[in-house]
This record gives sequence, structure tokens and C-alpha cells, in this order.
Amino acid sequence: MEAVSYTAQWTAAARALETERGDRAAFLDPYARTLAAPRGFELLEKNRGGGLTAFIAIRTRYLDDTVRRTLADGAVRQVVLVAAGMDTRAFRLDWPDEATVYEVDLPALLAEKRRRLAGLDARPRVTRREVAADLRGPWLPTLEEAGFDRTRPVLWIVEGLMFFLTPDQADGVLRTLGSASAPGSRLAVDLVSQALLRSPFSREFRRGLEADGTPWLFGTDEPEDYLTARGWRPTDVREPGEPDATHADWPFTVQPRERRGPSRSWLIRAESLPGTGHAGTRLP
Ligand code: SAM
Repeated sequence: MEAVSYTAQWTAAARALETERGDRAAFLDPYARTLAAPRGFELLEKNRGGGLTAFIAIRTRYLDDTVRRTLADGAVRQVVLVAAGMDTRAFRLDWPDEATVYEVDLPALLAEKRRRLAGLDARPRVTRREVAADLRGPWLPTLEEAGFDRTRPVLWIVEGLMFFLTPDQADGVLRTLGSASAPGSRLAVDLVSQALLRSPFSREFRRGLEADGTPWLFGTDEPEDYLTARGWRPTDVREPGEPDATHADWPFTVQPRERRGPSRSWLIRAESLPGTGHAGTRLP
């Protein structure tokens, strides 16, 4: 697998630890330990300072809730996990009958995930399609070949990806999503602040990521403006530690938004702005 794909195992390791909290767990992912081992646990151990394990639990639960809420209103039946990694929502959430989940990631990651899930005899609870593609290239045709219908609304889940992209690549991903978003489409994404990419407090962490070949490259201090300029109107912007996005082990208090400079990360729900999508037009 490419270096960046091992970060999916690290994320799964955090989910395994959360699951093993039993009654106190924010979610249960019974597949996470097998999907993570052993490299994910090594990476998590190396990088676990700064509330990272709790943050991954918070983000997972926030996005689980996003899937449930979005599908509950009946209009959206396509969910695309953009850079799905070792995400197991297709196997562990309840889904309406007509829903389809598309899991987009690099080919080697998807092959490794398939191998491990087969060993667990895991069965998806929804129609699930793997989409082996590199998000840096034109990947929409591959998504459409798998059955995605750009004339119908979609929920895009972009979890744990944006900071690994250059600003241009991040831009490209959001614009690509917009170009295939029928009216009523939604986006859920996590972003970090520019300040986090410069902070002395996260320097060791960032050096470790660089040494692993997975540097964090992109952040924004104005997520609302950033997304709106790219065709997405935020409907919920939340920091870890805020209501509905917190955890007993989260170590930080939320800083007032008007304070400039603290490191931040955001969990965001957004809807596509009218005129953004190109439903029915030809693919690039
Ligand atoms: N969303 C998953 C989750 O939260 O469990 C995975 C997050 S993991 C931190 C980052 C994922 O991004 C990896 O699975 C990696 O393979 C994928 N990724 C990074 N760059 C990619 C690219 N250019 N094309 C496709 N997938 C990519």
C-alpha cells in the first residue's frame, strides 16, 4: 500500500480502542482491530498525543450521525465514502433498502481491506461498491461505472483526507464533488486550521508525519468561506469538545472563535449550492 493508506489502519486502530470501551463507546466497530493490525496500532502509539484517539472517535460518531440523519429524510440514497480507507459503515450501520454506498480509495488499500474483511466473513448491510481510483486524477468516470448516478442527490463523506492534499488538490476534490452533485446533495468533511499546521505544539507530530511520508499540507482558518467559495454552504460547523462532538477523553476546551491563532479542527456538514452541480452533463 502507499504510505498514506497506512493512515487508514491508524484510524481503524483508534476505532478499535473506542469500541473496546464497551458501554461507554461512542460507536461499535467490531472489524476495526483486524483492519488495523499491526501497523495501525504502531502508528497510533507513535502519534497518540494531542487527543488524537479521542478526536477520531468524535469524528467517527459525528459522521455516523450525519449518515443516519441524512438518510432518514428519504431524499438521499447514494453515499460516497471519498478515501474510504478502513471505514466499515457499510457493515455496521443500519441502511434503508434502496441505499448504495460507494467506497473510493486507492486500489492497494481496497484489496487489503477486501482480504481482511473476507477473513472475518463480514457481510455488508447495504449495496456496497468498491471504486478503485486515485483522487488526484479523473475519478468520476470510475465512480459512474460502478453505478453512481449524478442526477440523484448524494452524501459525500470526506473523512481524514483533506489535510493530506495540497491546497490545489483539496480544491480539485471539492470542485469535482460539486460537479457531480444533483440538487439536495450534501457533504460532510473534516478540516484543520492553518494555525495547526504552523503551531509549535504540533511540531513533533507533524515531523513524525513527514518522516512517515504523509505530511499534512492543507488547512484553512476560515472553513465557512473556504467551502462557500467552492460551492458548499455549511449547515453545521463544529469543533471537537462542542456539544454533539465531544468525548470523555477529549483534553482541550474549545477556544472562542474570535480568538485568532489556536490550533483547530472542524467537523462540517454542508449542502450543495444551487448551480454547482452539473447533473446530466458529460463527464470530463
Ligand atoms: N476515511 C477513512 C477513515 O476515516 O477511516 C480513511 C482515512 S485515512 C486517514 C486516509 C485515506 O485516504 C487512506 O485510506 C488513503 O488510502 C486515502 N487516500 C489518500 N490519498 C488518496 C488518493 N490520492 N486517492 C485515493 N485515496 C487516497
